[in-house]
Order: sequence, then C-alpha cells, then structure tokens
Amino acid sequence: MQTTKIYRLPYQKPEVFERLKAAQMEAAKVWNECTQAHRKCRINQTPWLNQTALQKLTKGKYQLHSQSVQMVIQAFLANIDSTRANRKALIKNMKYPWRTKRFYPVAWAAQSVKYELGILTLPMGRGRKSLSFKLDLDFLPGAVSLVWNRGFEIHIKQEVQLEKKKTTGNKATIDLGEIHISAVTTNTGQGLIVSGRGIRSLKRQRNIALAKLQGKQSRCTKYSKRWKKLQKAKNKFCLRNSRQIREYRHQATRQVVEFCRTHDVDTVFIGNPDGVRKKNCGRCHNQRMAQWEYGKDIDYLTYKFKMAGISVLIGNERGTSSTCPECGHRHKPKGRTWNCPKCSYKKKHRDITGSLNMHNLAFGEKTKYPETIKYLRPVITGSSRWLDTAQSSLTLTNTTSTSVRGKSFDFCPKY
Ligand SMILES: [Zn+2]
Repeated sequence: MQTTKIYRLPYQKPEVFERLKAAQMEAAKVWNECTQAHRKCRINQTPWLNQTALQKLTKGKYQLHSQSVQMVIQAFLANIDSTRANRKALIKNMKYPWRTKRFYPVAWAAQSVKYELGILTLPMGRGRKSLSFKLDLDFLPGAVSLVWNRGFEIHIKQEVQLEKKKTTGNKATIDLGEIHISAVTTNTGQGLIVSGRGIRSLKRQRNIALAKLQGKQSRCTKYSKRWKKLQKAKNKFCLRNSRQIREYRHQATRQVVEFCRTHDVDTVFIGNPDGVRKKNCGRCHNQRMAQWEYGKDIDYLTYKFKMAGISVLIGNERGTSSTCPECGHRHKPKGRTWNCPKCSYKKKHRDITGSLNMHNLAFGEKTKYPETIKYLRPVITGSSRWLDTAQSSLTLTNTTSTSVRGKSFDFCPKY
C-alpha cells in the first residue's frame, strides 16, 4: 500500500517560483490538448483516442519529462472512464472534461525520480534543467507530484508494508461524532472515547476570524492594495488552521487504531452517520454539522486499519444512538448522558451507548457496557511549519489518557 507525505516548500526565489509555475502551466496545456482531441472525436463520432494515440499526439511538444506528460494523459483517461461509468449509471449533469485549465499538478513516475545525498531531483526532459529540492527523507521516494495549495507543495508517495491479517475473533464498533470524534467499544468489555473538541474549537475560531476579515474586505475596492493584504491574511490563517485540523484528525484516528491493536481486534464496524446532517436544526447547529468532516474520519480510519491488518466494515448507524441497549426503548437523549426511563440503564455515556448498539446491528450479538472507558484527546506535538506529514502520523507519541469507571463521565478536556 502507498501513503502520501506532504512537504510544503518554503519561500522560493522568484526565478525558481516562475519555473515551478511554468511547469504547471505546461502540464495544463497537455490536459487542454487531450480535452480538445477528445471533444473532436465525440463531435465527429470517430473512435475515442486511447493512451497510445494521445501519447503520439503529445510527443515532443511540451517542455516536460515524457513520463510527466504520460501521467497527465493517464489522469485524463481515468477521468473519462469514471465520467462514462457515471453517465451510464444515469447520474445527471456529468460532463466530459471541457474546461480550459491554466494550471495542472505536475507528476513524476517513481522511475524518473532521483534521491541522492539529501537532494530530490525531478527531471524536466532532455536538454532542460531539472528541478531539485533539498529534502531530508528517511524512505525511498515513489511517485512525486508538484501541487499548488495556496503555496507549492511536494507530495511524495511512500510504500508501506501491511501487517498480517488478524484472526482473533475480537470485534469493535465505532460511533463517529462531532464532540467525540469516535466512541469505541469492543466485545471484550473495553471502551475508548476520543475527544473532538479541539477540532471543533479550531473550526469555530476560523469562522470568527474569517467573518472579521471578510467584513473588512467588503469595504475595500476589489484587488486594491488593502484588499490584497487582507486576502493574504485570510489565506495564511486558513492554511495554518487546516493544517492544525488535519494533524488533530491524524492523531485522533491513530489513537483509535492503536486502541484496537492493543486489544487484539480483528474486525471493526464504523457507523456512517450520513443523514444526520440533512435535518434543519437552525443556523448555528447547521453550520457545525456542515463543517463536521466525518467522511475524512472514515477515510483516515479505513486506511490506518488496513495498514494494521484489521478488517473494516462500514454501514448505516440509523437509530443506534436513540435506542436503549437493554430494553430497546427509544428516545432521543439530551446532553452527554443516556438515561432510560423504562429500565435501570441510567447515567451511561451517550456515544458509548450508540457504539454498543452497533454490535447488535453489525455482528448480531449483544455486548455488555464496558467496564473501563479510556478518554483520549489528540494533541499536536511539536511545530511542523514546513514539514507536514499527512497520513503518516502513526509514530507520534500519545498524550493524555484517563481511565474512568462507570458513571463518572464529567471529565471533558477543556480547550
Ligand atoms: Zn431501557
């Protein structure tokens, strides 16, 4: 399996910056030519061009390494294939690529990338100067791409070894949430709650800061000196904020995977909360729900579990958080505790209750309320100003952990 490591490029000299920009513009030209050629075929009703034909068409025309051109063509053909499949499945408004692009990420295949003496060399084709970056890598780089994300970034693929598939018979369920990113219970009587308050507060901070800057910007003439200054401030803030949120998410999901690994879990069920967001619950709540990125949580968890050799099932979690696991009575809980009015199931954690019900839903077996529940809170360790490690935070250290028994759920990490 491959994961991606992201390295942000610090300040570049103007001439280097121009070269990077020119490379992306050149890649966009390849894409545009493919788009036009494909459009012609559709209009004239002639056979569509395949990879060989497109390679022939673009050969020697662009100031890029031949494999970089091939990567653009491959991406284009993959796009065509998925559009065709979607159109066949009658998904409306699916268009074949038509837009003329100005920029496109430049990619290098693994064979063309060189890494020697701490310098990453990316060839630009015969007779042209290669791009080279000083980077401290502790692995052999795979395919590389040059991406613009409010600044240049280098994305490097890394080959990761998968662990052996586990067959211990232990199962776990995960209830995703906004206040608590995940509540995990195993059928061996263990529980884990990972707080999501850090991410939530960062998002709230972003909303407030953006509103302030936006208000100021709305009084400026567009593209004036002051407008540009404010725009720069906005970009800078958003970029840092999104990096922090990403780091929190990696930490939180890693904590879940480590927990499952220490308790020898072999299969995990993740409840997909799709549908919770569709209800209209007022301005503030709607904004919170719209910014809750549970899809990312599912993605991160899935690939991290895959690396750890744990199988993942994803399914609907409808009704799990509003049903009493003991008597089956249904009511919507208020606050963080679950009190059943019909039986003795009282003062239990709301998200853990949801997770407990999933055992019945996914594996068809009832499980007892966990004896010990561990609370964890993701914390950003160390500053990573230029170096962002995405999808690779499995080695970072653990921070807070508190074990609580039974009802004492008042412990909530404050931010
Ligand atoms: Zn009950």
